[in-house]
Amino acid sequence: MAKVSSKRNKNQKKGLSTRKTVVLGVLLTMAITIIAVVLYVFIYSFSYVHGDLKIDLKQYRYSQNQTSFIYAYNSKGDPVEVARLYGTINRVWVDKEDTNPYIAKCYVGLEDKRFYEHKGVDWTRTIAAVVKYGGSQGGSTLTQQLIKNLTEEDEVTFVRKYKEILNALNLERYYSKEDILEAYLNTVYLSHGCYGVKTASETYFGKEISECNLAESAALAAITQFPSKYDPILNPDSNKERRNYCLKLMLDQDLITKEEYEEAINYDIKFQLNKKTESVNNVAYSYYTDAVINQVENDLMAKYGYTAKTASDKINYGGLKIYSAVNPKVQKAMDSIFANRDYVADGTVQASMTILAYDGRVVGIEGGIGKKKGKRELNRATDSPRQPGSTIKPISVYGPAIDTNAAYWSKTYANSASQTVNGEPWPKNQGGMGGGEMVTLQYGLAQSYNTISARVLADVGLHTSYSYLSKRFMLKHLEPNADESYSPLATGSLTHGVTTLEMAAAFQAYGNGGKYNEPYFYYKVEDASGNVILDKADHDSHKAVEPATAEIMNHLLQTVMTMGTGTPYNVDGQITFGKTGTTDEDKDRWFVGGTPYYVGAVWYGYDIPAEIYNVWNNPAGNLFKYVMDKVHANLGYKEFPTAPSGVTDAYYCTNSGLLGSNGCPTELGWFRSDNMPSYCYGHAAPKSNDSGGSKGDKKSGDSDSSSSSDSTDSTQASDSSSSDENTTPESESPAPESEGEE
Ligand SMILES: [Zn+2]
Repeated sequence: MAKVSSKRNKNQKKGLSTRKTVVLGVLLTMAITIIAVVLYVFIYSFSYVHGDLKIDLKQYRYSQNQTSFIYAYNSKGDPVEVARLYGTINRVWVDKEDTNPYIAKCYVGLEDKRFYEHKGVDWTRTIAAVVKYGGSQGGSTLTQQLIKNLTEEDEVTFVRKYKEILNALNLERYYSKEDILEAYLNTVYLSHGCYGVKTASETYFGKEISECNLAESAALAAITQFPSKYDPILNPDSNKERRNYCLKLMLDQDLITKEEYEEAINYDIKFQLNKKTESVNNVAYSYYTDAVINQVENDLMAKYGYTAKTASDKINYGGLKIYSAVNPKVQKAMDSIFANRDYVADGTVQASMTILAYDGRVVGIEGGIGKKKGKRELNRATDSPRQPGSTIKPISVYGPAIDTNAAYWSKTYANSASQTVNGEPWPKNQGGMGGGEMVTLQYGLAQSYNTISARVLADVGLHTSYSYLSKRFMLKHLEPNADESYSPLATGSLTHGVTTLEMAAAFQAYGNGGKYNEPYFYYKVEDASGNVILDKADHDSHKAVEPATAEIMNHLLQTVMTMGTGTPYNVDGQITFGKTGTTDEDKDRWFVGGTPYYVGAVWYGYDIPAEIYNVWNNPAGNLFKYVMDKVHANLGYKEFPTAPSGVTDAYYCTNSGLLGSNGCPTELGWFRSDNMPSYCYGHAAPKSNDSGGSKGDKKSGDSDSSSSSDSTDSTQASDSSSSDENTTPESESPAPESEGEE
């Protein structure tokens, strides 16, 4: 063009005679240019249309913009839908044969009567539209509308319209009319956030599209041309007018009979915005659903290397089926306690709770008190680490002590500060200093004496203790150097803290024979084509402690509930183990415990740590009991698993902590068979030559000490079911000594 105009400028100075030639030249140039352009466009168009498939409907079907579902298994073991996931788009695919006989005809009749004759473009209408609107709008076939829905390009330009035509022609070369109709029915926008006829029928009629009659189908088709104007809820009269127009066209095109027409015209449609679908749009997902989504997102990123955005898009638009591991009964019981504030002290205090089955399955979770208002709100149970206080001791001190044979049930320790920190004796017990008397490990644990956990920790060693927390019990928020020291490990003053999820997961080992099973919120995830893309059957499961340790810890933690700080929180009708926790200045309250069915952890406190007041007992323990009583209401009595070997129960002298002999006041304890204490002779005259030493115990040796153990005397009548007799007496030096390993 530049050339042409410059020529003209040059030629302007010449005479009239040359003007004709110039004009001719210009016209010729223009004609050639136009021919070239037309030829180019034609060749481009031809090769585009006849070339490879440009828009793959199958790809779309399986990968894009489909609603994901979360299912939970009901008591019969059937998956039931608990949530639908989508951003603002509500799409659920339906195969054409699962629609109804009318809906496709409604669209053909109303939107594209030559659908079965054209090859993607209705030229008659297109030319008419070009004349009328300059080609930018109108005259679109269903195929063209489908292209627009798929490409989501709806700006009004000639170029877009042109590309749409090429794509429509291309698409029709590869797909049957029925495939195209099916894709169309699944992508058409029908107001109220509905894409596709399935979600629309659910939204407007509360039923499946397969159950919609002709009139209802026509009402849906009527929305299409101008969704807000013909929205049947917002503008029922406009919808009716357009719907009747649709039926008339269908009759004229012989798509329906006169009888069908009459019946549909006179049918009184009941529109009722389906509460479920509607509320799902603004649903505040439960804490459980939030946690499922988080875990699926993390697992997708880990397994497939997705970015957070991609993983999130997959979840929200990928048509995934997520099979949640929630136990609806347990979750419901938890909701009934946590959803209102009747069970807590005041208006701003918070709490969280996690309940696990012993294979790591998270059966219920609560991330806060009160009504949950939004999606992905702060879930304190998974996201808010807090100081665990004394609930750390069973996993940082006592479990490792039993597991490494650094100590045993009845080993005695002085109830007094063992260190000086900043010039002060450390640690103190809740409510004061210990008096320096010797108490057993069991008693110190049951009474939650910091003095005893600090001394047992010294037997265990800091490094060993820390590595149990990090490598065996998998605490996630440890601070490598800072937390590998006395105060964090012996009294729970960790740098960052723990969540109820972590604590329930750690304590499960004391109810399941010693295993740590990674907590899981879902069983598996399927993609839109039904392939399993994530499977929690392969979740991490490793030995946290020896089965013998687990059994002993279980019994130790039962004594917290029978004679220690946990007595108010026993679950009705079930054996219960547990541990209480309180942090400095009473800013956090904890309870972690379990029955043979479930293990749970509760935290109670303020989001901004502050002193807890106005409470009775341990409010975390109270919540534990409220919830667990409900959860276990219809569950029968059951026992904890016992270790196949390696555990010996025996009566020990409550004075010396050694195995009891005649005259000793005794109680029943549980011991590693390879770490039995020797016999006490402080309370009876030692008999000579009585030592046996056969059973497992490492230390045998000198002397004396008595015979026939037990002495069932005083104390333990009720509890004494068990067979202490099997322990052959051991001999030993008087002082209960240990080997402090690390
Ligand atoms: Zn004794």
